[in-house]
Amino acid sequence: MLLYGCSSNKGKLAEFALAAEKAGVSGIEILPLPELQSIEPPEETGVTFEGNAVLKALYYSRFTPEIVFADDSGLEVDALGGEPGVYSARYAGADASDRSNIELLLRNLRTSMNRHARFVCAIAVAQGGKLRITAGGAVEGEILEESRGQNGFGYDPVFFYPPLDASFGQLSPETKFSVSHRGTALRSFFAKIKHGPEMHLLR
Ligand code: IMP
Repeated sequence: MLLYGCSSNKGKLAEFALAAEKAGVSGIEILPLPELQSIEPPEETGVTFEGNAVLKALYYSRFTPEIVFADDSGLEVDALGGEPGVYSARYAGADASDRSNIELLLRNLRTSMNRHARFVCAIAVAQGGKLRITAGGAVEGEILEESRGQNGFGYDPVFFYPPLDASFGQLSPETKFSVSHRGTALRSFFAKIKHGPEMHLLR
């Protein structure tokens, strides 16, 4: 089975392939959608991660007869009413860097005793303009007062994961994947796909 990803991010495609292998799903080829660079990306107008993943999967599935998948993820902080949420990548502005996003987050939480937060990931699979499968995952943690560790990306250095007594920035990619929102979502996705995507026509 051929699966096209709606992202040119090699790391994301590699995580998909790794999750397929770990789930024991054989015969799956994961590639970026051909000509992805020349397709104008859709506006991510969803108010939930699932909404954005579905919107992207449906949009890109119009450009190929094959099955396409899209994901959306981010950080929800309780004391900030769930922010940055779907705005995680651009929290500090349209061209925000990981560092400026973290700085704004820590500033906004300066006086907060409640540091509870979660990473959330949603995955959607579509074909020919029809939604086939959705899957999701989340991981709970605490926002640190300063960065710890150099690994990962985004908010990883300030996301403390109590069961491992470490920030995500201190974990190896394999360890992070074994507990992360994306790892959980991908495991759930491949558990569903094992039974054949044609069995799941959602809308
Ligand atoms: P996207 O789903 O790739 O658009 O990610 C949205 C944003 O959420 C990223 O730019 C990061 O800021 C944040 N984010 C999502 N997943 C992670 C993660 O695993 N670690 C750290 N930050 C993340």
